[in-house]
Amino acid sequence: MSNQDEVAKLREQLLVQSSAAADNEKIFLRLLEREIDLLKARSLRELLEKMTVGLANSYGLNEVSLVLWDPEHELRHLLVSEAGAEIEVPGVRLVDSMTAVTPQLQRLRSVWLGPYLGGDHKMLFGQVAQLASVAMIPLMREENLIGCLCFASVDDRRFTRHHATSFLAHLGTVASFVIENAVNRARILRSGFTDVLTGMYNRRYLETRLVEEIARAQRDQRMLTCLMLDVDHFKQVNDTYGHQAGDRVLREIGRRVQAQIRTSDVAARYGGEEFAVLMPATRAREALRLAERIRKAVSAAPMQATEEQALTVTVSMGIAETMPVVAALDLATLGQGLVSAADVALYRAKADGRDCVRMAD
Ligand code: GH3
Ligand code: MG
Ligand code: MG
Repeated sequence: MSNQDEVAKLREQLLVQSSAAADNEKIFLRLLEREIDLLKARSLRELLEKMTVGLANSYGLNEVSLVLWDPEHELRHLLVSEAGAEIEVPGVRLVDSMTAVTPQLQRLRSVWLGPYLGGDHKMLFGQVAQLASVAMIPLMREENLIGCLCFASVDDRRFTRHHATSFLAHLGTVASFVIENAVNRARILRSGFTDVLTGMYNRRYLETRLVEEIARAQRDQRMLTCLMLDVDHFKQVNDTYGHQAGDRVLREIGRRVQAQIRTSDVAARYGGEEFAVLMPATRAREALRLAERIRKAVSAAPMQATEEQALTVTVSMGIAETMPVVAALDLATLGQGLVSAADVALYRAKADGRDCVRMAD
């Protein structure tokens, strides 16, 4: 081979490699987008929908099936309690035994790619004609198989044993984590951690979470900010319109607070007409902006107290921040201190005429 030929050949190899790198980059970015989308799911049901219909759409797959091991029917019950009724999520199969849908799952511990085999796969995807290739992504929790995410395509070259599996394995890991996370959240909703009137977290949850967040702030050396909110002259609402109207107003205030906070913030009904918001990795100054947004959102439009009567309410808020030093040991006391400091600031807001926000010194 002449020198020139060799140069041309090298150049060609380089082009192939850089286009493969560009393809990889594209796949990677799409994977990141999918992951973020999964993380944003607000309920277990929404997550499962994103993992089936959502992935089918974004990856252009003909079928997606999600098998989840649910021996005690807990997932089924959590889904029912979220929706208030038994509504199936298309593509999701809750099974008592992993081998119920295909014996292949007994041994599956890493991503499997290959041809669609009627005998093995027809229970996974129902009776869909012309499926030609399949990807089976195990979902693991520690050493145990908790489910399987299954993709199918009519293209027989879409999934073959010659394709790399690392992206799909990664998707499987993320999917396992987000499912576990969503299950935990759904459990919390059913446990004693929710406020019945507003559906928000309650004080018990906030106090548990507070200790966790204090520990996180200490580990990451970032500010944790707490906001306490109290409705102004709420007794008058009850006295004028009745207790039921008061309840209705409290629910609406809860909704308006929740509409303003970010996904990383935790809002709770702290007591009667008091609400609290924990803001991880947030300084009091930033929290002040959020508090002003909440204040305006509450008073901007009247709230329906009864079918005929609407009224405008205002709220007062106090804000405090903390960043525990690395050596601090008594995190529970630090948490209580943070809430008390926000409470003191809240009393200042009341003393200063209400409908305002004050920061702790
Ligand atoms: P301030 O501006 O100083 O906060 O005045 P306020 O009237 O809001 O303060 P106060 O603490 O005296 O009154 C709070 C009222 O909230 C008294 C209580 O009856 C009412 N409340 C507490 N929990 C509930 C509830 O779940 N539903 C209803 N409707 N009212 C409640
Ligand atoms: Mg109060
Ligand atoms: Mg009050």
